Amino acid sequence: MRCPFCRHPDCRVIDSREVDDGQATRRRRSCVECGRRFTTVEEAVLAVVKRSGVTEPFSREKVVRGVRRACQGRPVDEDALQLLAHRVEEAVRARGTAEIPSHEVGLAILGPLRELDEVAYLRFASVYRSFSSIEDFEKEIADLRRPAAGEAAEPRSGRSTG
Ligand SMILES: [Zn+2]
Repeated sequence: MRCPFCRHPDCRVIDSREVDDGQATRRRRSCVECGRRFTTVEEAVLAVVKRSGVTEPFSREKVVRGVRRACQGRPVDEDALQLLAHRVEEAVRARGTAEIPSHEVGLAILGPLRELDEVAYLRFASVYRSFSSIEDFEKEIADLRRPAAGEAAEPRSGRSTG
């Protein structure tokens, strides 16, 4: 790692800590030549493979954009979108693979979105799963009405974050 100030090729790591729940490592470095300090962040690259075969880095922002469209006019705020994207990222990273097909990112969105807002979920699912008839909606709505087996009580309150 070259010093960003004097371009000297050597630096010393003076501090190293995990950030973002251990998904990244932040290192404080000191240039052995000029002594100035700088920070680097290291994280595993998670690539999304699109249907065309093209890969691109996983982007939480992209998840938020896709879901925000489905949430138009719904009582879903920006914090909820960010939290959802965070959960999606955790879910896809938990698979432990460096590459993930884009449709599996979509799958990872469906669960948390369903908990967040059922109308937005239906919109997103209709596009994502290419609903072609009213029956597709009926079936999905029937699923929504069926209580999920073994579902725990909803953590609606009493939890403070951030
Ligand atoms: Zn330097």
